[in-house]
Amino acid sequence: MAAPTPVVRDSHENLNGTLWYQTSAEFRVDSASKYRIARQTLDTALANKGWTAALEQTGNVKSLPVAVIMDLDETVLDNSPAQGQQVIDRKPYVPATWSEWIALADAAAVPGAIDFIKYAQLKGVTVFFVTNRTKDEEPKTRENLQKFGISLPNDLDTVLTKGEQPDWSSDKGTRRKFVANKYRIALLIGDDLGDFLSGAKDTPQKRVTMAEQHPNWWGERWILLINPLYGSWEGALYGHDFSMPDDQVLKLKFDQVKGFK
Ligand SMILES: [Mg+2]
Repeated sequence: MAAPTPVVRDSHENLNGTLWYQTSAEFRVDSASKYRIARQTLDTALANKGWTAALEQTGNVKSLPVAVIMDLDETVLDNSPAQGQQVIDRKPYVPATWSEWIALADAAAVPGAIDFIKYAQLKGVTVFFVTNRTKDEEPKTRENLQKFGISLPNDLDTVLTKGEQPDWSSDKGTRRKFVANKYRIALLIGDDLGDFLSGAKDTPQKRVTMAEQHPNWWGERWILLINPLYGSWEGALYGHDFSMPDDQVLKLKFDQVKGFK
């Protein structure tokens, strides 16, 4: 006879998400499909000189060189081992463990990402990485990217980290504006609402409303990779208060799950 299921199971909120990311065919198919769409859209954007993918872009864009803006974490870099470690240790996010992971510069690539970057660069498009990794983390981040054979220009910083300039906060709008001042932005690619829109650190409901204001851009100008592990969607469940004790965070999460009994 099988042992009875304990009342409280020993598990972790990222167990299934991490395994989906690390083992599923579905994740690979989804990610590769998104990058195939990105490639097709890039061709369209290159041919249409009035095209832009950034709400921050203003003025005449026709004569500007073309750029693509990509997020890094869970868009280009697969950090699921850092999530996996949390699951194994039954721990919430710990900044020191994240730093330890970044220092290894050993993230794998998200399926499809590297081929897309190389394709864009071959077409003469400048690829900017707008990441909420910090300036201190930039050297290891570059090292990780270069392992994939991506060329990062010496005469132009294309890895735009959080806090690198005074107004470069975790909200990426100012960095998109910075790029848009000199380039026509063909595509935004990311895994978080904040990779596309300013003000993504809001309530779940407002985030949905914000996303729905641009129905035709998703899946075309805006390519969203799936990240079930973390993101501003998760912070939204507890008011983006990262100082909140873990037991309170968990309680708030359980409170927001819809059941039927
Ligand atoms: Mg990301």
